[in-house]
Amino acid sequence: MKVKLIRHTPEPEKLVAIAARLCYSPVGVEELDKQLDDEAVRKLIRFVINSGHLSTTEHAYFTFAIEGISRVLSHQLVRHRIASFNQQSQRYVKFKGNYEYITPDSIKQNEKINEKYKNFIADIHKFYEEMLNEGIEAEDARYILPNSSETKMIVTMNARELLHFFTVRCCNRAQKEIRDLAIEMLKNVKKVAPVIFENAGPNCLRIPCPEGKFTCGRPPLASDFEPDF
Ligand SMILES: Cc1cc2nc3c(=O)[nH]c(=O)nc-3n(C[C@H](O)[C@H](O)[C@H](O)COP(=O)(O)OP(=O)(O)OC[C@H]3O[C@@H](n4cnc5c(N)ncnc54)[C@H](O)[C@@H]3O)c2cc1C
Repeated sequence: MKVKLIRHTPEPEKLVAIAARLCYSPVGVEELDKQLDDEAVRKLIRFVINSGHLSTTEHAYFTFAIEGISRVLSHQLVRHRIASFNQQSQRYVKFKGNYEYITPDSIKQNEKINEKYKNFIADIHKFYEEMLNEGIEAEDARYILPNSSETKMIVTMNARELLHFFTVRCCNRAQKEIRDLAIEMLKNVKKVAPVIFENAGPNCLRIPCPEGKFTCGRPPLASDFEPDF
């Protein structure tokens, strides 16, 4: 899996702080931009996040290039509605000779099953290529491609959506591949907006686990989400 933060709102934390301060200020945006120093920015961000006044965090956008993920993952990812997505097409891209797929760790670790998995997917791909060679359109031949097919995406979320996304997808209850992705995304945004995302992650970092009987009972450490730099 390759996850890269490729663009973000310039000075995302300053922008969120200006938006927060504007609500209570008699002066205009230009003046606030000059007035707010780093300490004031930190205080304002902590105030809006702790008090739940999260609309100000919607001004900060983050765009990720994501490659080497399965369509199992991408299907879960696009359920997050307050985000923008583009994904490599299985209509316009023909996977002749360049077909990649994802193997979960549990399958890799079982030699016998892993061998069967590889062979099964190789057979599927052979039939897919046969269909293309017979003139079947890629948009129809793709019906037999498995969920494990590798895909590439560009994803943009604002900070408010990211905070929500990290809460549900960094949790141990989330499926492993999307959890791995969410943790990588969190590490990336912490580098450019460390105050907004300082307490981001699963609920159990902030409050008792709300998962009831489904709790994993293994709260992660805040350090699990720190960037490696
Ligand atoms: C562990 C786990 C297991 C899951 N299992 C399943 C499953 O078995 N089946 C399944 O179908 N899905 C499943 N999901 C997906 C889940 O139901 C959500 O679709 C997904 O997590 C997107 O989150 P969301 O809807 O909270 O928020 P997003 O779409 O990311 O939106 C963010 C927030 O905006 C607000 N919002 C967005 N749209 C609306 C709206 N139309 N009306 C009101 N408020 C809105 C809500 O407050 C929402 O929380 C699972 C998710 C997790 C994390």
